[in-house]
Amino acid sequence: MINQQGESVQLNKQFKRTRFAPSPTGYLHIGHILSAIFVWTIARYTKAEVLLRIEDHDLSRARKEYEKAIPEDLKWLGFIPDIMESPHNPYYKQSLRFERYEQILNKIKTQHSVYSCDCSRKKIIEKMQDRKPGQELRYDGHCREKQLSNKHGIRLQIDNRTLEFNDLFLGIQKQTPAKQCGDILLKDRDGQWSYQFAVAVDDWDQDCDLIIRGQDLTESTGRQILLSQVIGRPNPPTFLHHPLIHDQKGVKLSKRDMASSVRDLKNKGYTSEEVIGQALYLGNIISSQRPVKITDLAEIIIKNERI
Ligand code: GLU
Ligand code: ZN
Repeated sequence: MINQQGESVQLNKQFKRTRFAPSPTGYLHIGHILSAIFVWTIARYTKAEVLLRIEDHDLSRARKEYEKAIPEDLKWLGFIPDIMESPHNPYYKQSLRFERYEQILNKIKTQHSVYSCDCSRKKIIEKMQDRKPGQELRYDGHCREKQLSNKHGIRLQIDNRTLEFNDLFLGIQKQTPAKQCGDILLKDRDGQWSYQFAVAVDDWDQDCDLIIRGQDLTESTGRQILLSQVIGRPNPPTFLHHPLIHDQKGVKLSKRDMASSVRDLKNKGYTSEEVIGQALYLGNIISSQRPVKITDLAEIIIKNERI
């Protein structure tokens, strides 16, 4: 595979398991397809299994119809997860694991400083007067000494440690969560478990040693490694953050900007090979618009043949 620096990277290590972990807050779109392409292609090449996890940690945003559509749309594309079964459900989903998160939170409380916080997003934004465009919110530890009751949000007090990881695509990365986001939110003010916490617990519990996802999540990785240390995971997983799909203006596409979901494209009569080709083209992985077969993905992603 060719990395960010244009160098060739040998993916010769075998991994046990990776995962595809969409949030059921909309239908799968072209960005998800690019992720699925990287997940399945690299998994097959490194002999890793693919686990499907529905990230419905935030019940206020998750919708059943989107959840149901995820495995269907993946199947239509030709991406079949190896691990879907959990004792309670056809696939792993976070909403079935809230007791587990509570249990881990209680364990953390015995060894680390965890405190309640009633600050709103608005209040945190107001305090960051010199915030640059696109800069993420950093919490300043305002409620650390307040001893608020448990009914508020819950944060983990963190130290200044810098986490270093060797991203398979980006190379060596160094991140200091205390400077990026401050004390990490574990549960929000409405009682919803945070993405960062749920994912760190799940990736460990579900034995994922390889995390493949888009570069929009690169900044989350240091704090997820930190959380993995806090919850007692002996070794963090290996990470690979793949390039994102950009439109002509170079603006990242989100669910809102993207006219077509997998579903729409399918209903409009596109074939799965056309849709896969389109994701690769928009991700700048191939240089012309053409249908791509799943069986040709290893050549394109691993050998990086820009045909
Ligand atoms: N659920 C996240 C999303 O859909 C992905 C999380 C991850 O891969 O760590 O953006
Ligand atoms: Zn606070």
